[in-house]
Amino acid sequence: MRTAEEWNAYYTDSSFEKSFFYGKSDLGCSCGPDGTGFRLWSPPAQAVYLNLYRDGEGLPAFRQVAMEPGEKGVWKYETSEDLHGVYYDYEVVIDGERNRTGDPYAKGAGINGQRSMAVDLKRTDPSGWEKDRRPPRPVENIVYELHVKEFSWDASSGIPKEHRGTYRAFTYTDSTLNGDGIHPTCLSYLKNLGVTYVQLMPVFDYGSVDERKKDAFNWGYDPVNYNVPEGSYSTKPGDGTARIRELKEAVMALHSQGIRVVMDVVYNHTYHLDSWFQKTVPWYYYRTWEDGTVSDGSACGNDVASERAMCASYILDSVLYWAEEYHMDGFRFDLMGLLDTELMNRIRRELDKRYGQGEILLYGEPWAAGHTAMKSGAVPALKKNLCFLDANVGVFCDDTRNALKGSVIETEERGFINGGEDCEEGILWGAAAWCGPASGREFRAKAPSQIITYATSHDNQTLWDRITDTVPKDLWEKMNRLCAGIYLTCQGSLFLLSGEEFKRTKNGMDNSYCAPIGLNRLDWKLAWENRGLAEYYRGLFALRKKLPGLCDKTKDAWTRIRGAKKAPGLVSFFVDNEDENGSARWKTLFLVYNARKEAAPIALPEAKWEVLADGENSRLWEDQEGGSGKVWPREQERGGKGGAGKAPGYGVLILGSRRQIDEMDIR
Ligand code: CA
Repeated sequence: MRTAEEWNAYYTDSSFEKSFFYGKSDLGCSCGPDGTGFRLWSPPAQAVYLNLYRDGEGLPAFRQVAMEPGEKGVWKYETSEDLHGVYYDYEVVIDGERNRTGDPYAKGAGINGQRSMAVDLKRTDPSGWEKDRRPPRPVENIVYELHVKEFSWDASSGIPKEHRGTYRAFTYTDSTLNGDGIHPTCLSYLKNLGVTYVQLMPVFDYGSVDERKKDAFNWGYDPVNYNVPEGSYSTKPGDGTARIRELKEAVMALHSQGIRVVMDVVYNHTYHLDSWFQKTVPWYYYRTWEDGTVSDGSACGNDVASERAMCASYILDSVLYWAEEYHMDGFRFDLMGLLDTELMNRIRRELDKRYGQGEILLYGEPWAAGHTAMKSGAVPALKKNLCFLDANVGVFCDDTRNALKGSVIETEERGFINGGEDCEEGILWGAAAWCGPASGREFRAKAPSQIITYATSHDNQTLWDRITDTVPKDLWEKMNRLCAGIYLTCQGSLFLLSGEEFKRTKNGMDNSYCAPIGLNRLDWKLAWENRGLAEYYRGLFALRKKLPGLCDKTKDAWTRIRGAKKAPGLVSFFVDNEDENGSARWKTLFLVYNARKEAAPIALPEAKWEVLADGENSRLWEDQEGGSGKVWPREQERGGKGGAGKAPGYGVLILGSRRQIDEMDIR
């Protein structure tokens, strides 16, 4: 067998792609009543054999056939038989070595993804699937990050035992706390909360969990079969069609409640280097350094070579497949900084072509875990290269996150809410979603559509753990509300880890990827006990949808923010909140983020200012709509002459006026 360096030289030679680039999207297995076809791309193979099995594991092949070599390094086998539900794998002979491999393009698989499965996808559609529609585009992207098993594992979820921790749990639209019939959990809770997207942590087939073990747990960032759903969330992991049907059912159930679905995708690395990729086209899909050592910018043992033509096609086709076959409404790219900007933009263009501009959400982590051997000339999709990405490719904004509560790595470091110094500038840039003049900062976004504004995700400590670690007990809840009040009123799309709104804790653990499900599961009792905080989030979500000045995703949205002021622990600004049709109730907003203990004096331009939310109550705007709202300054805030008042300490204050911002004297 050739060495990695020799393979690399072979693929890098310009004649390779000229001879072997295969542009059609028919690789893998297609199957239906009229017959079944298998196609595998393996230019270096001397021979390829197809094995057919009755089961996903165990019994030997009932048939082996030699595949025919075809154009561009594609091996083919076609039969008039309908092989739906038949499992298969390949034996590929390269440089005289014969290796068994699954199909990298498989759309179905047996238990633990070891054997691929021929599947007629039509026969996996749940009833009603043809009527499933993407919910209308929401006024704001409010993304709730969820792990399938964590979601319903706990008995408090009220989901019947046999469906806890599975895709099926999503099909219960009226579950309640321990089945008490009163307090909503799971999907009914989410609907009530007002989030507009659920981001499912990996639901493609990953390798770190034995699908037979019901209580095994992993986040799932270890892909085995990119185009097959994970089996451990299925009620029948051994039946390759069940996982497909059940994931579709989950998507359909979310859609039925008006919630869109984002899929977390991990194209930057595979579980092992010894993957189907490697076994079919050695070293083509992976990056190596000049001396042949394996590039490991993912810190997971390998980096997928997204810049290679067939690899880029693979990733693109995979995304399009999930969008089309599973009705996914968005994609979150893990370690997007390991992929290249050209590919991300191409995925954006192809999705736009099929579904409309920006209709499918696309965003990712604009960083890597280490250096990667990306081919020279390719531009990594890192934060510093945001200017090379389409305005509708977004990134997680760690700058806003860190300005809020301090670095997630240097946990001694504090942010704006927990007593950090010099965070005000970052908070203000965060408010404008890092758009506007670029001077004095590392990067600039083209538009708020490029920014995911968030405080916590599955990585690092939960917000509650971080707060309880860094501030005195009597301030815990206040600080959580302050944090939510800030980032949920910043421009950009909004994102939160499930349970952030009800004080989710992992006992301080900052990386629970393989911790027991008992630590990771959502505790629905906590959601009830901490309903005050959850209600505060809920009010902010609802208010947000009424504030076009913050939801605006166009490139000039940042110019809506005016009269920004900062002082240690204090940030304030006005927002032009007019919408296109001039129908916004509040034409101008005034926001104060006060992280000081003391109330802060505020002087406002002459106008009637209605109180929309403060550090205690995020639903005061409802009183305004109902005609019973209070005008600023309220009794408790009167401090100065005329209209002057004080913004209470440790909280946000959100005011709205019906006067247009241009009619006001804002300095
Ligand atoms: Ca699996």
